[in-house]
Amino acid sequence: KGLITFDIPFREYDYFKYLVIGGGIAGVSCVEGLAFLHPDASIGLITPSGIVKAVTKAVPVTKLLSDITVEETDADKLEGMCRVIVDNVTAIDPRVNSVLTESGREIKYSKLCLCTGASPRKIWYSPHVITIRDTDSVETLQDKLKTVKKIVVIGNGGIATELVHELSGVDIVWVVKDKHISATFLDPGAAEFLQETVLKKTESTPETMFKRMRYNTEGSAGPSLGPDWHSNVSLHGVARDTHIVIEYACEVERIVDAEETDTSCNVYVKLTNGKTLACDIVVSAIGVVPNSNILVRGPPFELATDSGISVNEFLQTNVSHVFAAGDVCTPRWEIAAHWFQMRLWTQARHMGSYAAKCMVGAVKNEPVLQDFAFEMFTHMTRFFGFKVILLGLFNAQTLGNDYEVLLRVTRGVEYIKLILKDGKMQGAVLIGDTDIEEMCENLILNQLDLTDIADDLLNPNIDIEDYFD
Ligand code: FAD
Repeated sequence: KGLITFDIPFREYDYFKYLVIGGGIAGVSCVEGLAFLHPDASIGLITPSGIVKAVTKAVPVTKLLSDITVEETDADKLEGMCRVIVDNVTAIDPRVNSVLTESGREIKYSKLCLCTGASPRKIWYSPHVITIRDTDSVETLQDKLKTVKKIVVIGNGGIATELVHELSGVDIVWVVKDKHISATFLDPGAAEFLQETVLKKTESTPETMFKRMRYNTEGSAGPSLGPDWHSNVSLHGVARDTHIVIEYACEVERIVDAEETDTSCNVYVKLTNGKTLACDIVVSAIGVVPNSNILVRGPPFELATDSGISVNEFLQTNVSHVFAAGDVCTPRWEIAAHWFQMRLWTQARHMGSYAAKCMVGAVKNEPVLQDFAFEMFTHMTRFFGFKVILLGLFNAQTLGNDYEVLLRVTRGVEYIKLILKDGKMQGAVLIGDTDIEEMCENLILNQLDLTDIADDLLNPNIDIEDYFD
């Protein structure tokens, strides 16, 4: 009686206090942080697939460093913390604080965090070029390996390095733009240390006895440090032996598909050193480009030179109420002397949780202190059972030629490299069970003058940790 009904379409979940885009480590860590810091607030996560990536285990190694395990998991598992919306964001309208999605939804927010990650850099387009990004692309490669005899691998980061090591039963030409392999993570000495161990292991491990690795170049070469994405994947080709050739200090100029009548190979790769390589497939792992090209209705995002969305010390973008974290962003704050950005899980995780703190701080109008994780670069991975820890300016980044190196190498056991400047520790590469990561972390953070004890720092007969206790 007297009741008027309106025919308004009911749109479920069209407003969230906090909205996060992207179900990678940054996005999931952000949601976890938001749910913890502001449990009664509405939180939405937009992700294109029902599978998200999460850190399922984090074992503290030092104050700043944790040994993390990353797993793909059902997005449903986050439902206790947030509302998961499986969709793709196509545009942001900051004038009305809303995002628009592929399926036609408009979702409003108070604070938004972009965690859209990065995509592998693609320069060449050919059905014979594979770019390794996710498990799907590794499966494509596995499939192709059933028929190919010769592969060209392009790239000198962790992914290319591990790939070259994991591939077997196939001829590989590895094209690296630097003078030594794995330059993103390793100096030539560390590369050589690992190579020796790997080759020794190959001889004594029965199941890999068939694998013969030959390097036709001088100096350091061979498998080395890299991400552990390949651990459950078998990358065996059809041949019995593996033959690796490394082309140093050159890049790919052109890739041309072979004529259909050409039965010798699928594709030709022309290098800047004048050589042309004939092969069956090319695997490209030449870095990533941030997914920063989301349409903004209004002034666009300010981008850094690497195409990452510029963020300030509170991970805020230039667009009001919009934050960014993980691979998609690039810091434009004055970074600490021993920290720098590398697009890795650890940093995606730190940034995701820190973004949550900043977003909640902004909503509650509370001050936020920058996270301690941005004081110093830390990364831990494993290589052939070796613990590999990288701390601070581990490759003497930003130091030019003005630094000192302390080195201790025990073949097959450990490789320790400490970087000192003006007697103070700046960075460290610790391979093996060195047990000095905590000490190194403290010395990098507190910048203690080590001039008088530098000679003893790596003396195996002196328990240097006692000295600092
Ligand atoms: P991502 O994990 O890329 O997640 C971004 C998410 O956003 C994705 O789910 C994507 O689908 C979604 N998204 C993008 N655009 C939109 C949109 N418009 N709408 C909605 N959703 C969107 N690092 C390590 O530390 N250790 C390793 O072993 C390691 N291995 C690696 C192996 C490979 C093959 C690659 C490519 C990288 C590896 N890395 C490793 C780097 C690491 O994966 C990244 O640094 C990290 O995953 C970045 O996390 P993220 O959350 O920022 O981005």
